[in-house]
Amino acid sequence: MIVCGHYGCGGVRASLLPPDPGLPHVNCRIAPLCSLARAHRDELDAKASERERVDRLAELNVLEQVRQLRAHPIVRDAEPAPLVHGWIFALEDGRLKVLTSGYEADDAMTCETAAHSA
Ligand SMILES: [Zn+2]
Repeated sequence: MIVCGHYGCGGVRASLLPPDPGLPHVNCRIAPLCSLARAHRDELDAKASERERVDRLAELNVLEQVRQLRAHPIVRDAEPAPLVHGWIFALEDGRLKVLTSGYEADDAMTCETAAHSA
């Protein structure tokens, strides 16, 4: 299984801005991203530019989706359990970056945030 995000994501960027009261459906859709951003506020605030904050949050979001998928009973209890890979794509140059491969040696790279249970 592959979770693939992309850099320069407008949805991720919107989650770092104050919510627009005129766009309730958008606000609802990006709410999980907003809580993920809050959980990683210190790391994101330390970035030098908005672009770096947006791109790092896009990576953290991939890792969070991977974490949730790996923890889901359908994946966790499957025999054999499928590997869940986390990738991110750069539209600018077409490159894919592997954030987590699904192999045990890479588990340290996996985001351990509990933003969604907070
Ligand atoms: Zn996007």
